[in-house]
Amino acid sequence: MTTDFYNLLLTDCALALILLVLFWHVARVSRGVRGIASWGGGHFLYSVGAAMLDGTATGLERAGSATATTAAAIGGILACGGLAVLAGASIKFTQQRPLRPAEWALVPGLVGLSLLAWLAGDAIDGQGAAMSLAELVMLAVMLWQLRRLDVPPLRVPARLVMVGCAVLAVLYARDLLNAFTGRYGPNDAWVNVDLSTWYLINFCMLMLASFRAAESLRQTAMLDPLTGTLNRRGLFARLDPELERLTREGHLAVIALDLDHFKRVNDRYGHEIGDLVLQKLSDTIRGQTREHDVFARTGGEEFVIVVTGPDACNAQALAERIRVSLSTMRLDPPSPPVRVTASLGVAVSNRPMPLSMLMRGADEALYTAKRAGRDCVVTHTL
Ligand code: GH3
Ligand code: MG
Ligand code: MG
Repeated sequence: MTTDFYNLLLTDCALALILLVLFWHVARVSRGVRGIASWGGGHFLYSVGAAMLDGTATGLERAGSATATTAAAIGGILACGGLAVLAGASIKFTQQRPLRPAEWALVPGLVGLSLLAWLAGDAIDGQGAAMSLAELVMLAVMLWQLRRLDVPPLRVPARLVMVGCAVLAVLYARDLLNAFTGRYGPNDAWVNVDLSTWYLINFCMLMLASFRAAESLRQTAMLDPLTGTLNRRGLFARLDPELERLTREGHLAVIALDLDHFKRVNDRYGHEIGDLVLQKLSDTIRGQTREHDVFARTGGEEFVIVVTGPDACNAQALAERIRVSLSTMRLDPPSPPVRVTASLGVAVSNRPMPLSMLMRGADEALYTAKRAGRDCVVTHTL
């Protein structure tokens, strides 16, 4: 091992530390995007572990020092642990969900490889084999996960990471072969390719993280912060991809809902209780609608449900169920048992009808319901 090689590994660790801070910062500013901080943490652990194994332990062994085995073991455990965290982070990042219990098995599984090598007492070659095997497992998990990121703008950086993973897999398969034949050691000839590929992967991961954060902000802009339902913009964005087909097939109906005398609720119990009523109302309506119905808060105490599918003509029955469930709805204690009612206007059509006309029809029906004394459903067939 040359001094240059050792310096290169130290520089790599320093860069991994900077990347850790950078990934942590990106995770902090893009709240809700999973897997970014753990990627930075896993990469740092792996870089330090690999530098200890390929740099420190190898140097000590050549100098005939007895501490080489311990240095190799610590390096191997850190590297394998870091690789397990990287594999987990790639699952969390691509699927944006926490790890499942079976996936947590990656940590004991990969760290166990290094512990086995330690127990076998084989310093450099054993730990080299454990780390190379863990690297190949991690790359396989990455490749399997990243193929899911197949939509723009994620596709290009995700494909670049996949190419990087394939290049690294060739290098680490060669290392594994060397370890099994007792020739594991610092790979001076290929270390530049190895580190440059990791730079590329990390660069693309930062790019993917910022795209994910932008997407999450876009999604947030479509939600009403009080009730978590879609807002008006979200309603149209959700319907957009299918609207033409639904209109053509006549599979659309609209329910407009407005709470009765809601101002009185605010005046009597205060705005905070009024807000709780709006939240409870949203939960109650969500419990009544089906997954393909689109529910949105379009104004202060005004909501719209766009009923989609062949049974859209039954929207009146759904509106009646919602009206009844709202009239029996109560806030959970210790909040006061506020009673509310709602008026609902329904617009259905027997023929293809633009959504805008159905919305207008539902508004007119709602106005009629208010004039008819409130707490009722009025349906207009267009
Ligand atoms: P109507 O039966 O005619 O619909 O009577 P109303 O009192 O419900 O109607 P109006 O339009 O006069 O008042 C709506 C009230 O809804 C006024 C406002 O205080 C309340 N409101 C609107 N948005 C919110 C909100 O986000 N939180 C709370 N607590 N109240 C809201
Ligand atoms: Mg009202
Ligand atoms: Mg109103």
